[in-house]
Amino acid sequence: MPILKSKDEDMISRLIQWRVMRYLISGASAVAIDLVLLFVLVHFFHMWYLLAAVIAFIAAVAVSFVMQKFFTFNDYTKGGIGRQTVFYLGLQVFNIFFNTLLMYVGVDLLGIPYLMSQILISVAMAIYNFLIYKHLVFASGATYHKDALISPCPSCGQIDNIVWGSKNNHTLVRCNSCGLIFVSPMPEETATFYNEVYFAGGGECCGYINYDRDKEPMRRSFESYLDHMESALGRKGRLLDVGCATGYFIDIARSRGWEVEGIDISEHAIEKGRAKGLTVQAGTLDNINFPEKSFDAITLLDVVEHLRDPKSSIIEARRLLTEGGIVVVATPDAGSLVARTLKSNWHLVVPPEHLVFFNRENLGNLLIQTGFSPVLVTNIGKHFTIPYIFRMLFSWQKLSLWNVLARWTNKKPISELKIPINFRDTFFVIARND
Ligand SMILES: [Zn+2]
Repeated sequence: MPILKSKDEDMISRLIQWRVMRYLISGASAVAIDLVLLFVLVHFFHMWYLLAAVIAFIAAVAVSFVMQKFFTFNDYTKGGIGRQTVFYLGLQVFNIFFNTLLMYVGVDLLGIPYLMSQILISVAMAIYNFLIYKHLVFASGATYHKDALISPCPSCGQIDNIVWGSKNNHTLVRCNSCGLIFVSPMPEETATFYNEVYFAGGGECCGYINYDRDKEPMRRSFESYLDHMESALGRKGRLLDVGCATGYFIDIARSRGWEVEGIDISEHAIEKGRAKGLTVQAGTLDNINFPEKSFDAITLLDVVEHLRDPKSSIIEARRLLTEGGIVVVATPDAGSLVARTLKSNWHLVVPPEHLVFFNRENLGNLLIQTGFSPVLVTNIGKHFTIPYIFRMLFSWQKLSLWNVLARWTNKKPISELKIPINFRDTFFVIARND
């Protein structure tokens, strides 16, 4: 005989499915534990009330941490627990000071009665604490792929992963051996993804509003890349840009005297590049068979993070380089403060667009293992247009508002504005083929 849920049980379970309700239950449980423990310690153990208050408070913070993490936010990640504890404790200390400050402002400066002040402040604190937990501390409501832990690392080949986060229904893991963060399991072939829509704004999740316009503010960074490349190589030479899109970078390089070629996975982007008179072809390093030692420089700018197998591209790049030739990589920095703090809320974590996240150390090691010697590792800022920034916010948060603003500003003169942004969360590497 089937067990029927009573109406009340049904209502309770529906309320619990609502995260704000779980948040309130967790908070109330912590307060209850604090009061009960305080009473028990003072009344039955005759403890000094101030010492009892400290012990009860510590217990309540511990209980609330566990409940917020697992119950409110369904966050079962093991990896970040140290970071979360520090973050959580720091927030509690901040709350005590902030509460005192606001009480002073409310009571002494604004003349609000102290109980009313405390109620208003508590409500405000409950709201911002919820937002901080949701966006910064816990990997909210994530479900992880059951096979996430058994994928080999695309950089070092080891199978030794811990869950790092989750985004857009993809699980991200960190390799315990080399520290690479990658989407696991890797999605199937992603080529169809980089179609016309990706470069011209209609995409549901990702891509550019208007590739050529949005890349224009990059000119200064590209010039700076080329300055570094020319000093590392000691001259200009034959350049292959992998993931050249419509050829914006190689167009600039060509005007500086480089002999340029480009490849890209997108047929659509390649047609546009050809229309500019550039030597470009559709494909990847793995499926176009260039002759050995064809180039003096190979650039992978904002490319390796898109690759399911970045190592094979780096090995192939080495085969195509002349002796003393350089490989140039610009990619998100998983070791940056922004990445380590925000984890899957980092705006560059956008699977299935971005699949692997290196840091300075593990990319350096991969380059050394594949026969390169790194000669420069640095961070170079970028300039962005306003529609591009809104588009980035949209792919990060999936809030339709950002997409609406991106499309709206796209048609306005304001879209020509170039805004310098440097979160120090990307890095630029030049390595020589020795
Ligand atoms: Zn690894």
